[in-house]
Amino acid sequence: MKFKILSIFPDILDSYLGDSIIKRALDKKIIKIEKYNPRDWTHDRHRTVDDAPYGGGAGMLMKIEPLYAALKDIKKKSKTADKKRKIILLSASGKTWNQKLAKQYAELEEIIFVCGRYEGVDERVKKFVDVEISVGDYVLTGGELPALIIIDSITRLLPGVLGNAESISEESHSEPNILEYPQYTRPALFEAESKKYRVPAVLLEGNHAKIKAWRQKKQKIKK
Ligand code: SAM
Repeated sequence: MKFKILSIFPDILDSYLGDSIIKRALDKKIIKIEKYNPRDWTHDRHRTVDDAPYGGGAGMLMKIEPLYAALKDIKKKSKTADKKRKIILLSASGKTWNQKLAKQYAELEEIIFVCGRYEGVDERVKKFVDVEISVGDYVLTGGELPALIIIDSITRLLPGVLGNAESISEESHSEPNILEYPQYTRPALFEAESKKYRVPAVLLEGNHAKIKAWRQKKQKIKK
């Protein structure tokens, strides 16, 4: 799976992509990440990627020309068939990302992310992407964190990324609206502020059938 990220702040992605599960997936060549800066598709001295909105209003918008030219070049160089690729515009007003979409998109071969900044992007950029995705009903400063969220949620679903395949099948949202059962680790008894917090006895007994039944009972339904 190739993730291509179009961002005017590509360096802020590095820390997250350079550690833990994502790093392992990169090292194992299960995923590949390429970063592109729209400024490389500008032609003026200041490498301008933004401009004031027509009609007035607060802030600046990302211009269409550098984003269009970058997308065109990235697609031209790609060896992936169109139907195996999605171009995502990160947008607070897009379709909300969820585990079902993560599973669907994990079947693709390539995802190109267009990260907005400032007050967003010129509306016409939407004509050149496949889908607008939001990571929730709140406004972030840029599309980089949403791109990382999407990359992370897809990467952990790819075969060979997580050590134990059960980690995926029993996680929250692996079935629609079902949330994970409570989990505990050592110590069996934790004491704090004059109170005792015990691990449920059934988990200490080693009876796998009983543990399975208890976990099924304790799985929560999302309201
Ligand atoms: N003026 C825009 C609005 O009201 O929807 C918000 C722009 S926001 C400050 C800048 C960029 O951050 C957006 O273009 C988008 O790429 C990204 N962004 C912000 N919130 C997001 C969210 N919830 N999901 C996905 N992307 C988001």
